[in-house]
Amino acid sequence: MTAQDTIRARARELLESGEVASFVGWEAGRFANQTTPLIISDPADADKLVFNEYCVNTLAKYVRDLVPRGKVGLVVRGCDSRGIVRLIVDQVIKREDVYLIGVGCPGVIDRKSGEPLKKCTECRHNNPVICDEMAGDEVAKDAPADRFAEVREVELMAQPERSRYFESIYAKCIRCYACRDVCPCCTCRECFVDARRENWVGKQNNVAENRFYGLTRVMHIGDRCIECGECERVCPMDLPLMKLNRKVIQDLNDLFGEFESSMSLDEGPEPLITYDLADREEFM
Ligand code: SF4
Ligand code: SF4
Ligand code: SF4
Repeated sequence: MTAQDTIRARARELLESGEVASFVGWEAGRFANQTTPLIISDPADADKLVFNEYCVNTLAKYVRDLVPRGKVGLVVRGCDSRGIVRLIVDQVIKREDVYLIGVGCPGVIDRKSGEPLKKCTECRHNNPVICDEMAGDEVAKDAPADRFAEVREVELMAQPERSRYFESIYAKCIRCYACRDVCPCCTCRECFVDARRENWVGKQNNVAENRFYGLTRVMHIGDRCIECGECERVCPMDLPLMKLNRKVIQDLNDLFGEFESSMSLDEGPEPLITYDLADREEFM
């Protein structure tokens, strides 16, 4: 039995028994090398579910809006499961709101290039960090690419060059907010950029305002980012958003020791919201 067969069978059983009100996975897209997320509530639709190397979307974010209608079943790989941990730790959902069918994931493929997606070559957790049952075996994987290599490249730039580099990035941003909408850490009911408050945040599409948006978002999610790479994948302007996310993560590792967000439901408070007298403070 393949993982896809198991996912279909279990989704059908969970919906038929009433254990879950809806189930989230992927369905085949219009083309053979494409899938889209699928949300079903009718057991008869379970056979539409697929699991293959083109399941590029992570699924955790869809859960937030489904939970008020009842328990949600969900397929989780490493990245999806860390997104779920994030939502639970941030008290957006409860553990009992979801039933998780885990799958080991060797990585997914960019349908345009036919190459592995960058987020997957850098992935450090291919298997779910939490689940209720597994559909198939866990996968072993080669050592991932160095996730801080791009950060070091930017750090090596001279300051004026670095400034021009970031200016060129923010000049291209179109403020579509796809990076925010896909992110499992961005769960504020009212995002700071949507707030209507005088002199709060500009809505203009220019370098200064775009930079303000980008940098504020990076600091909002700083020590909670699960490194799923979805923000960078969905950006229609192909902006290298993971460089900024990983700069914060690299600094967190440097300042507070080895740290990865959302690996367990028991993880302690995030480093940026705790204070310790032993904290380094060379800047003071
Ligand atoms: S980020 Fe990791 S778990 Fe997620 S799809 Fe890529 S390889 Fe699989
Ligand atoms: S997805 Fe890209 S273009 Fe859209 S707001 Fe985010 S950074 Fe800007
Ligand atoms: S990698 Fe991007 S989408 Fe994923 S958690 Fe971090 S900021 Fe959000």
